[in-house]
Amino acid sequence: MKECGVDRVAVIGGGLAGLACAAALGSRGFRVTVLESRRRLGGRASSFADPDSGQLVDACQHVSMGCCTNLDHFFGTIGVSHLLSPQPRLHFVTPDRKRSVFKADPWPAPFHLGRALMGAHYLTPAEKLRVAWGFLALLREKPDADPPLRDWLLAHRQTERTISRFWGVVLVSALNETVDRLGLKYARKVLVDGFMRHRDGFVVHLPTVPLGRLYGEELSNWFGQHGVEVRENAAVRSVVATRDGVQHLAMRDGTTVNADWFVLAVPFERVADLLPESLVAQEPYFGNIANLTPSPITSVHLWFDREVQSLPHAVLVDCLGHWVFNRGEVTPGEFYLQVVISATRALRELGHDEIRRRIVTELGQVFPALGQAKVLRSKVVTEHTATFSAVPGVDQWRPPQASPVPNLAVAGDWTATGWPATMEGAVRSGYLAAEAILARAGRPQRILRPDLGTQRHARPI
Ligand SMILES: Cc1cc2nc3c(=O)[nH]c(=O)nc-3n(C[C@H](O)[C@H](O)[C@H](O)COP(=O)(O)OP(=O)(O)OC[C@H]3O[C@@H](n4cnc5c(N)ncnc54)[C@H](O)[C@@H]3O)c2cc1C
Repeated sequence: MKECGVDRVAVIGGGLAGLACAAALGSRGFRVTVLESRRRLGGRASSFADPDSGQLVDACQHVSMGCCTNLDHFFGTIGVSHLLSPQPRLHFVTPDRKRSVFKADPWPAPFHLGRALMGAHYLTPAEKLRVAWGFLALLREKPDADPPLRDWLLAHRQTERTISRFWGVVLVSALNETVDRLGLKYARKVLVDGFMRHRDGFVVHLPTVPLGRLYGEELSNWFGQHGVEVRENAAVRSVVATRDGVQHLAMRDGTTVNADWFVLAVPFERVADLLPESLVAQEPYFGNIANLTPSPITSVHLWFDREVQSLPHAVLVDCLGHWVFNRGEVTPGEFYLQVVISATRALRELGHDEIRRRIVTELGQVFPALGQAKVLRSKVVTEHTATFSAVPGVDQWRPPQASPVPNLAVAGDWTATGWPATMEGAVRSGYLAAEAILARAGRPQRILRPDLGTQRHARPI
């Protein structure tokens, strides 16, 4: 039942998808309630209070890129863009302590990074030409072509070395999957959108604060001004629905939540548990989601007694770790580094102690100052269901945001966004879910932001 003619929306899940959807609908006159099962917002892109130190620690460092126009728009809307710092230089390091700086020249895309590629110390001149050839071949590919990536690379003059030292270095961390399991489509997307389409696409944006801080005062003020209520510690037990519509939400605390519209913005592996079994069995739209498979990410958190390196970040080539982030002196006398290892399926057998040992040894090779330093504390975190795996043809299992149930939309990085599982993908899905509800409410509107380089008609949210 509408209250005073205002449509009510219940958004299940306070990750970036749910928050972006709430922002888009709240600012369009809907009364939105976000129901989040945890005591914090941000979902997978969030922080926890470390019981050892009391500090807010990211479960895993997240980075954005210049091509992430919707995430940028969302952070700009709620007023936290200043908490991210663009990194126009990327530092690539190898165990022999050599370093290459990857930065743009003042030339138009796609030539702006040509000299940076040619300066990569970890590729031979012949390998650089092979990589350049690979980029040209990518541009000629159809955007939707999705054969196995490794086969495609080998068929386009790439070698084991260019795959492991270039394509793998960029793609395994961007897509959280190994080259032998990936499809071409999202690899092409990362490389074209990130490195070729626009001069700023590749610029990494690093949060300068723990991720949890992004959902602080600014967000609650903005939500307060736009009719969005957030309930944390509010877990939905089930979505009570038939094909004809959602009636209400049954909460784990025994209460019910009513609304006119519902947005299910939970991770893909949670969807079937929340919906009626019969609905999932009847509707391939819901049933197909079970075909998505997860890929894990491991982060190694190390607190040293001194500064062991001064770069803000480094991409590790030929190493177990993929990225190292330097958070500096977080408390007096404690210097915090975080190493991210993507697609860690193969490391499952090693155990966290062995992973930490290998990472500390590896960092010692790369950063000589580490030899003098003492590890004060450490923590290894593995997110087993970090992202969906972008295997060939994965899009056939990703549903659009408008579900077959008339008053239900779905959102999440796993829905059909045309993007891999990223914060940008999550925000896109939230905006698309809001578009789906607006269309069904008879008020169709475009909310999604254009890609970098095509933003001619910027509109406020
Ligand atoms: C370790 C790791 C590293 C990553 N690194 C990057 C990176 O560097 N850059 C990048 O762009 N992306 C990165 N990602 C991916 C990014 O975190 C996700 O794509 C994005 O945060 C997904 O947002 P979401 O809203 O779709 O889902 P989620 O963040 O999973 O949000 C879903 C929310 O639903 C809530 N929920 C679940 N069940 C219920 C229920 N029954 N009732 C109420 N609420 C419920 C959950 O608590 C959660 O808050 C990384 C992910 C991981 C795990």
